[in-house]
Amino acid sequence: MSFTLAIVGRPNVGKSTLFNRLVGKRLALVDDQPGVTRDLREGDARLGDLRFTVIDTAGLEEVTDESLQGRMRRLTERAVDMADICLFMIDARAGVTATDQLFAEILRKRSKHIILVANKGEGRAADAGMIEAYSLGLGEPLRLSAEHGEGMSDLLSVLMPLADGMAKQHETIEPETDIDIDEDSPEITRTKPLQIAVVGRPNAGKSTLINKILGEDRLLTGPEAGITRDAISLKIDWDGLPVRIFDTAGMRKKAKVQDKLEKMSVSDGLRAVKFAEVVVVLLDAEIPFEQQDLRIADLAEREGRAVVIAVNKWDVETEKQSKLKELLEEFERLLPQLRGAPLVTISAKTGRGIDRLKGAIERAYDVWNRRVTTAQLNRWLLAMVDAHPPPAPGGRRIKLRYATQVKTRPPGFVVMCSLPEKLPESYSRYLVNGLREDFDMPGTPIRLTMRSQA
Ligand code: GDP
Ligand code: GDP
Repeated sequence: MSFTLAIVGRPNVGKSTLFNRLVGKRLALVDDQPGVTRDLREGDARLGDLRFTVIDTAGLEEVTDESLQGRMRRLTERAVDMADICLFMIDARAGVTATDQLFAEILRKRSKHIILVANKGEGRAADAGMIEAYSLGLGEPLRLSAEHGEGMSDLLSVLMPLADGMAKQHETIEPETDIDIDEDSPEITRTKPLQIAVVGRPNAGKSTLINKILGEDRLLTGPEAGITRDAISLKIDWDGLPVRIFDTAGMRKKAKVQDKLEKMSVSDGLRAVKFAEVVVVLLDAEIPFEQQDLRIADLAEREGRAVVIAVNKWDVETEKQSKLKELLEEFERLLPQLRGAPLVTISAKTGRGIDRLKGAIERAYDVWNRRVTTAQLNRWLLAMVDAHPPPAPGGRRIKLRYATQVKTRPPGFVVMCSLPEKLPESYSRYLVNGLREDFDMPGTPIRLTMRSQA
C-alpha cells in the first residue's frame, strides 16, 4: 500500500528542491502558467524501494506579506489533511525562526506522523541550527541537503517503518473493553485515568490486590462479554485517583471463565505492559525475583514504562527487617536497569501497605512525566563535565556541547558531542545517574542519546 507525504515549511527552506529530487521527471501535475498561483503540487515520488505520493506546498513565495500567515496556515493544513506523513522542513543555516515555530504549532495540533527535517545541512554552517531544531519539540531532526542529495538514505530509513506501520494499521485493530465500575466518588481531579498494569507470576496475588483496590470482590462480576476480547481494562476511582487497570489472566480467572484463558501466559503480561503507563511488578515475598519476574520487569523498562516493585504477602513474613535488606540487595543486583525504582512491601490480603503503593505509583508517574528546562540542563552539563571531564582518546578531548530534553514518558535527553562513538559507556552511565540524582528522577527509565553535530 502506498502513502502520501506532504512537505511543509516556510518559504525558501528548500521544499521544492526536495520535491524535485523525490519526483525527478515523474511529475504528475505541473502548472507553470504565469499569473497562476500554484497552491499544491503533487508528484509520484521514489526513494529507494519506496513509491509514494508527495505533495509540495510551493507557491507561497508569491503571496504578499500581510496574507502570508493566514494563507500559509490554510495551505499547510490542507496539505497535512491530504497526507499520511508530514515532512516539516526548516533551514538549518537560518536556525529556528518564529515562522517555523508557528508551523510546529499547526502540525502538533494535527498530530500526524511528523518528520522534522533540517535542510541545507551540508557543512558546518548548519551545526548550530541542527541543535536549535530540537527546541521545536518534534523529536530528533533529520539532517538533509536536498540540493546535494545528502541524508536521503536517512530519510528512507525513517520513512520505511512508518510506511510499514501504515500497512499494518489496516490489518489489526485492537479491541478494548471498558468495564466501568462505580462512580460514587465525585472528586476526580485528573482528566485521564492513570493506566496501570499489575503483572507477576501466577499466584503472586494480582487478583487479590486488584480486588482489594476495588473494595469488594467486584472483579467477580466482570461482564462475560468482555472475556472474549483481547484487552480488558477496569476504570476505577482509587481513593480519589482515577486509574485504569489492565487485565491479567488472574482477573479473567475471577471473571468465572474456566477455559483456556485461565492460564497465565507471558503474552498477557506483555500486552498489559504495552498499554500501561505505570507497571506494578508484583512479587511473592516467599519466592521473589524469579526468572519470570525479572523478564517482565526488564520488558517494562525496555518499553519505557514507569515501574513500581510491590512485594506481596508481607503478612506472613516473620523476619521483616532482614528480609527487606535481602530484597533490596537482590533488587540492586538483579535489576540494575531499574535503579531507584520504588520497592513497596504490601499485603494484598489484609490491605496493609496498599496506600503506600498508591503513593509510589503516583510519584513514579510524576517522575516519568518530568520535564527539565534546557537552561537547567546545560548548567548541569557544565558542572558534570567540570567535575569529571570526558576522556581524550588519541589526545583529542571529547567535547560535550549542549543538552536538551527531547521527550517525556519516559524522559529522553540528547547530548550533542564531538566523537560520540568514542565516548565510553561508563560516561553515559555517569550522565544518566547524574540526571537521576540531580533532577530527582528515581526509578524511571532515562533515555540518553549522544549525537554528533557533524
Ligand atoms: P521552497 O520555497 O521551500 O520550496 O525552497 P526552494 O526549494 O525553492 O529553495 C530555496 C533556496 O534554497 C534555493 O535557492 C535552493 O537552491 C536552496 N536550497 C535548497 N536546498 C538546499 C540545500 O540543501 N543546501 C543549500 N545550501 N541550499 C539549498
Ligand atoms: P494471581 O494468580 O496473581 O491473581 O494470585 P491470586 O490473587 O489468585 O492469589 C494467589 C493466592 O495467594 C491466593 O490463595 C491468595 O489468597 C493468596 N494471597 C494473595 N495475596 C496475599 C497476601 O497478601 N497474603 C497472603 N498470606 N496470601 C495472599
